[in-house]
Amino acid sequence: MKRPIYLDCHATTPVDERVLEAMLPYFRESFGNAASVGHFYGWEAEATVKLAREAIANAINATPEEIIFTSGATEANNLALKGVAEAYHQKGRHIITVQTEHSAVLDPCAYLQSLGFEITYLPVKFDGLIDLTELESAIRSDTVLVSVMAANNEIGVLQPIAKIGQICHDRQIVFHSDAAQAIGKIPIDVNAMQIDLMSLTAHKIYGAKGIGALYVRRRPRVSLAPQLHGGGHERGMRSGTLYTPQIVGFAKALEIAIASQAQEQQKALDLREHLWHRLSELDHIILNGHPTQRLAGNINVSFTGINGAALMLALQPVVAVSSGSACTSAKTAPSHVLTCLGHSKELAYASIRFGIGRFNTFNEIETVANHVIASVRSLQQE
Ligand SMILES: *Cc1c(COP(=O)(O)O)cnc(C)c1O
Repeated sequence: MKRPIYLDCHATTPVDERVLEAMLPYFRESFGNAASVGHFYGWEAEATVKLAREAIANAINATPEEIIFTSGATEANNLALKGVAEAYHQKGRHIITVQTEHSAVLDPCAYLQSLGFEITYLPVKFDGLIDLTELESAIRSDTVLVSVMAANNEIGVLQPIAKIGQICHDRQIVFHSDAAQAIGKIPIDVNAMQIDLMSLTAHKIYGAKGIGALYVRRRPRVSLAPQLHGGGHERGMRSGTLYTPQIVGFAKALEIAIASQAQEQQKALDLREHLWHRLSELDHIILNGHPTQRLAGNINVSFTGINGAALMLALQPVVAVSSGSACTSAKTAPSHVLTCLGHSKELAYASIRFGIGRFNTFNEIETVANHVIASVRSLQQE
């Protein structure tokens, strides 16, 4: 069977060959535990992790001590939200976030709400962006944390992170950003953007799954209550033996993404523009999210009057994409991001997220465009 063309790079990406090469020695030969202080194997692992940590810190203009390795962005978000809520609860119990955040932010917020914290969920405008004056007016004297993602995983929109950082900084409120989709794809500088906490993950940038990090500002210091207790690794903030191969791969993946950022994002943008240009041959389509303030490799398109499930079935043999339905274990629900934009349940289902990445080619985009156009036309005739 020929594999379908992969256009789901917001879900995950394949490990880059160069990343895999960098990781391999750390599975067998250099397998030490970075916390083993008494022998060569431990020193070797420790030195390796140190270099990787420096590279990751450099990539976002942080210092190495500010990088806390986690199992990914889900864990980083949990550590940021619950860790701040617990550490600052005497100062206040109010948190501000956005309705269109990833579930790895929304679910910890719901959990905190169940513990008695108050959460304000900011709405978004039709273009998917928040209104900064609404953010400002949501801030209260007991607000301890603002959490706004840098790039949305469904519609790719880029929130005005530096402006949000400024607003939070002026009021001395901790600012967290889930940058799982943004890192490596847009320039990120935690100081210029005044970010206090930032969640990262490797597997969206051609690193391996199971590794990520939380950036935690040291000046002025952000306090966090640890959520995993154990051997006191990562300056007490996240216990557990460091996963050396994944960490090495994460650093390598980030280095590659940043070194090739301008060129790679331009290519993704060209492919995306071409795909949108081709899809525009169809009637009744809607581009979801801001037309330009978005990730280069993302378009999210609604096909009005089309049955979403039938469209996905028609696309599956040719292209791997995600639809506007979020499948949980038991039931299917329409994407909360698309319904926040004002879409009906049906229109949310009839939406496709195209995530273009490093390894996609012009010919693939042509094949996909032809197939989507033909599929939609045949469904429109039914
Ligand atoms: C993928 C993703 C996550 C989850 O990251 P994991 O490393 O898979 O836990 C969180 N937030 C956003 C915005 C994402 O795109």
